[in-house]
Amino acid sequence: MSWIELAKKVIAGYRISKEEAEQILLTDDNEVLALVHAAYEIRRHYYGKKVKLNLIINAKSGLCPEDCGYCSQSLKSTAEIPKYTLISKQTIVEGAKEAKKNKIGTYCIVMSGRRPTNREVDTVVSAVQEIKEEVNQLKICACLGLVTEEQAQRLKESGVDRFNHNINTSSNHHSFITTTHQYDDRVNTIQILKKVGISPCSGVICGMGETNKDIVDMAFALHELNADSIPVNFLHSIPGTKLENMDKLTPNTCLKILALFRFVNPTKEIRISGGREYNLRSMQNLGLFIANSIFVGDYLTTNGQQAVEDYQMIHDLGFEIEEDPFETESQDFLNV
Ligand code: SF4
Repeated sequence: MSWIELAKKVIAGYRISKEEAEQILLTDDNEVLALVHAAYEIRRHYYGKKVKLNLIINAKSGLCPEDCGYCSQSLKSTAEIPKYTLISKQTIVEGAKEAKKNKIGTYCIVMSGRRPTNREVDTVVSAVQEIKEEVNQLKICACLGLVTEEQAQRLKESGVDRFNHNINTSSNHHSFITTTHQYDDRVNTIQILKKVGISPCSGVICGMGETNKDIVDMAFALHELNADSIPVNFLHSIPGTKLENMDKLTPNTCLKILALFRFVNPTKEIRISGGREYNLRSMQNLGLFIANSIFVGDYLTTNGQQAVEDYQMIHDLGFEIEEDPFETESQDFLNV
């Protein structure tokens, strides 16, 4: 069966098998365009030409006791990064206003650390309440680590729409990446979010030495968890971290991985996340035929490309920014 025939079956409700999923990753590089075209059929069916924009604010950086091997914010890492405790409520609110001006759909408040203290949750809750009062139609995603049900409930009541907690890798590969918490801790947090009614965002980081089977398992695990939003990160190896010597993925490999996630999770928001520019390079635009969401601006401790280049890419592809109440002003961002 061709990829396009499989895509049509998926749109009709067929759930692909793990064997079919693994075949996606084994696609010959010469056939990648056919795979992208098929994945685009699914993306177009559910999302048309819309692209959702997300912006991160790194609200607390570094000083984390966990040992995630990819992360420059771990105390185990010797990477030179900014280190600071939780920024003020006002800075978080100002960032949201700036995000809105830049046509961002979801503003992501991200904190380093294993779990937030109740005082840190107080600050985030207070900031989110003010953002919801003052910034119309901006969705808020919080990424604060492991949270208790009580904390999740407070975040929900403050107006947090979504909470990000990535599974990061497969259950099988998890202990290679992190030893200070378990895969099940991550899954439990996602279950807590669902219980209190916060939309779960959970994704992966590929390029951390996992096998194709691990990647397939991740895509199916997120299907089981029913994550509404799936960030697909490609490792940007940072000197000073445990994974500093991991090879870059090829752009074709990234496209196959994105296609796999689209075929397994056809209706979900799939976001090309950290490492987009580093791994996909000149083929980033092809990724948008599969994914329907990107981050604009910088990541936590690595730089993204200039926002104007993202707007230009979306414009050149003939795609449209989602949740854009200022349609007529879009040219201001492009200078075209
Ligand atoms: S990924 Fe999060 S929990 Fe892991 S070391 Fe980095 S900041 Fe800490």
